[in-house]
Amino acid sequence: MWQQIWGWILDPNNPSFLISVALAFVIGTLVGLRMRSPREPKFKPMSPGEDQSFLRGIRYILSNDHDHAIEEFTKSVQVNSDTVETYVALGNLYRSKGEIDRAIRIRQSIILRANIDEQIRMRALFDLGLDYRKGGFLDRALDTFSKVLEENPADVEALEEIEKIYEEMKDWSNAYGTRKKIARLTGGDHGHILAHHQTELGKMYVEKGETSKAKGCFNKALSIDERCIDAYLHLGDLHFAEGDYEGAINRWKGIVDVAPQFTFLAYRRLEDVYLRMKDFGIIEDFLKECARSNSDPFTHMALARYLYNKEDYEGALQELRNALELDPGFWEARKFMVEILLRKGQKEEALAVYGAILSGLSVPYLKFRCRNCGFRPADLQWQCPQCRKWDSIDFVGRIEEPQLPSPLPDQEAKKR
Ligand SMILES: [Zn+2]
Repeated sequence: MWQQIWGWILDPNNPSFLISVALAFVIGTLVGLRMRSPREPKFKPMSPGEDQSFLRGIRYILSNDHDHAIEEFTKSVQVNSDTVETYVALGNLYRSKGEIDRAIRIRQSIILRANIDEQIRMRALFDLGLDYRKGGFLDRALDTFSKVLEENPADVEALEEIEKIYEEMKDWSNAYGTRKKIARLTGGDHGHILAHHQTELGKMYVEKGETSKAKGCFNKALSIDERCIDAYLHLGDLHFAEGDYEGAINRWKGIVDVAPQFTFLAYRRLEDVYLRMKDFGIIEDFLKECARSNSDPFTHMALARYLYNKEDYEGALQELRNALELDPGFWEARKFMVEILLRKGQKEEALAVYGAILSGLSVPYLKFRCRNCGFRPADLQWQCPQCRKWDSIDFVGRIEEPQLPSPLPDQEAKKR
């Protein structure tokens, strides 16, 4: 816990800091001990009361009052300019406030100090990299972290920062290379990240029209991690673009085996196939397989689309009722029901369904959430836009709706 507190003081942006303000009273002890994280350099112990401004600065940090904290830390360094840790805290506060120039000047002054502890100098260099990155100077940040690595090639934290910068720059091939180094140093399973890097690289090749290189990347992604849904989707898209619809569906089928909850991503793509394929047999097989392994509202919706395209309107309506039985808040299914009823000339029934839709028209159906940082993106993303973790966005279902009437339009239900 202490390391967390100190870690946060040195880096107030760290989202893992969840200690309540009630802990403020123990901070005096903390300062006395000058706890340090493995990355933190050794500081000389300081007795509480030795530097009142420093203590007040820390209290202000705890109450989230960064302006006053800066004021107190500035006073503190005026009294004693030898205390490097105060400069470090000050630099981090400036960075968190977006005053990057000031933060950078502070780091540079630490790095240039004579006789400075090597650990402190390395930390300042690392912090300088963070400042550059926060300021959007990605090339300089990359340079700075590379210097950290020159001194210590096994610095995983620096490698992770470098990887983030490559990802930000969409330099996927270097992001991939960096993650491989991290994997060698830390062990464990990094396959899903490496597969995403390959998939993103493949997407860049698709944009450039270099199809065979793109295919190579998608296949490589799947050989690294057979659960890389994005790779199946884009490999399928490539086949689709080449007019190989069967091949496309076969690639999308891969998702059914590894992550059936995500097959709805393939269903969206099927819409385009309907418009181009004469023979629906292969689609039917695909959907039946999906329904066997995963009976969710999306699968019924996809079956409804399929039957609708075959002009089996009754069958489509039944699939929509099945979908709404599983989830009465599935607005798209209701909207589609109205479309079919209107096409069949059943205006009254359509109106009844339409009435239920009105209250929830603008509410998005899907709900996603990052299990790492809690961020809620509007759409499914493979990398969280907030914490940059891969595969941390969960599909958590639909957004809560007001109470709804029966999922079945009554008259229509009675007819069956
Ligand atoms: Zn996140």
